[in-house]
Amino acid sequence: MQDQILFIEMVPTPIWGVSLRRHLPRSAWNRLRQAVLEDCEYRCEVCGADISGKRQAVADEVWNYHTDRSPAVAELYDIQGVCMRCDRIKHLGLTSALIGQGHMAADYMDELRAHFCKVNGASEEEFEYQRGMEFAVQAQLSQHDWTVDWGEYEELVPEAVLGQVFSQDRKPTYPA
Ligand SMILES: [Zn+2]
Repeated sequence: MQDQILFIEMVPTPIWGVSLRRHLPRSAWNRLRQAVLEDCEYRCEVCGADISGKRQAVADEVWNYHTDRSPAVAELYDIQGVCMRCDRIKHLGLTSALIGQGHMAADYMDELRAHFCKVNGASEEEFEYQRGMEFAVQAQLSQHDWTVDWGEYEELVPEAVLGQVFSQDRKPTYPA
């Protein structure tokens, strides 16, 4: 495999649905999204695809997960303009759930696997191996209580949300 550029990055269960997008008024999020997409000049920041078409672009919140402290900290460190396929691969846990619930066609996974392999120069076996590993990593991350570090975006977040702790016992149903 060449240098990998597209990774599967699953969100720990206790913080499913926790996002900057969710806490901003729609107009504020749309402004932020627009700025992100103009910054990347409507090219996917992972695979370079043209994302100027309708419903092609996603402003993806990029998180670091720190489990060396208690509660663990989810750190929002960037918002990237990415294509729909890269986004669906990064959030493969959610994608799998949507397919499982019939919201997406089952053969969409074949399309995503092919995209992952092409972008990374990876084999299908490597995709399957990483998919398995990431589900295990996600299960581990979900054993922690979490807080959120909103980073440079903190001033946009309503005060009531800051400092919230999301217990490992939280069982959000997502997508709701
Ligand atoms: Zn992409």
